[in-house]
Amino acid sequence: MLAIKCDKPGKIKLRDIPTNSDGGLKREESPTRFAALATQLAELQELCYAAGTQSLLIVVQGMDTAGKDGTLKSIAGAMNPVGIRVASFKVPTAFEAGHDFLWRVHQQTPVRGETVFFNRSHYEDVLVVRVHNLVPETQWQERYGHINDFEELLTESGTIVLKFFLHISKEEQERRLLSREENLAKAWKLNVGDWKEREFWDDYQQAYDDAIEKCAAKDAPWFIIPADKKWFRDIAVAEAIVETLKPHRQKWEQILAGIGETRKAELAAYRKGVS
Ligand code: AMP
Ligand code: MG
Repeated sequence: MLAIKCDKPGKIKLRDIPTNSDGGLKREESPTRFAALATQLAELQELCYAAGTQSLLIVVQGMDTAGKDGTLKSIAGAMNPVGIRVASFKVPTAFEAGHDFLWRVHQQTPVRGETVFFNRSHYEDVLVVRVHNLVPETQWQERYGHINDFEELLTESGTIVLKFFLHISKEEQERRLLSREENLAKAWKLNVGDWKEREFWDDYQQAYDDAIEKCAAKDAPWFIIPADKKWFRDIAVAEAIVETLKPHRQKWEQILAGIGETRKAELAAYRKGVS
């Protein structure tokens, strides 16, 4: 697998993990590679939707400019828009903040059959909240346990949970922030806040180390994606999703076959009744 899969709690040091890997792939071969994965991705997501017994939750996290939007465009773009949805989490409104931190998140989880992408997520409550001391430490420390329990509740209820950290270097972030100033199409993304947050780079990386380390679980793994190369990022994310869904294929096909049998029997009985 091209991604670094973390499926049990264990020490993580993002600083020591390269951001510019290409997994031995060549850029020229990336469109073909991605297209092949995109086909499988679309098939598996449609099967999940049609079988309607499970759901898929894909959490996307990363520093500003890490490529969350771009990844969603590539990955969600490969799927059938029927049955998928994106939930973006911004600074909580006063009403949202008046509840426990998982309240607004739980409402956005996928219904059976559905695929939901979280563009930022409940992890912000142990990232930005921790870096800026938005709640006392005793409170955010408790949240790792709450997050693990919450994700366990989801997986036990039939949701397949995958969490992606798009890993870019500080230098790559600077290049991307500056390029936004050059490109009119990207001007809407210009935000002085991104430069201010950049000053807290090390604190964020530390907070990510801890979140990945404490909330990596067999049924809700983290995937660290070297993301300086956008083409590699898309292939690595697509591959991780395909590999996670593949083992479910046969079961979903059987469920579909069962649905087909039942519906055909209903049709046969109906036709017999009217003839
Ligand atoms: P963007 O993803 O650029 O639209 O920005 C969304 C902003 O919302 C980011 O600066 C996040 O850090 C912030 N945000 C998201 N969730 C939370 C949260 N739970 N508490 C505080 N800020 C948050
Ligand atoms: Mg931003």
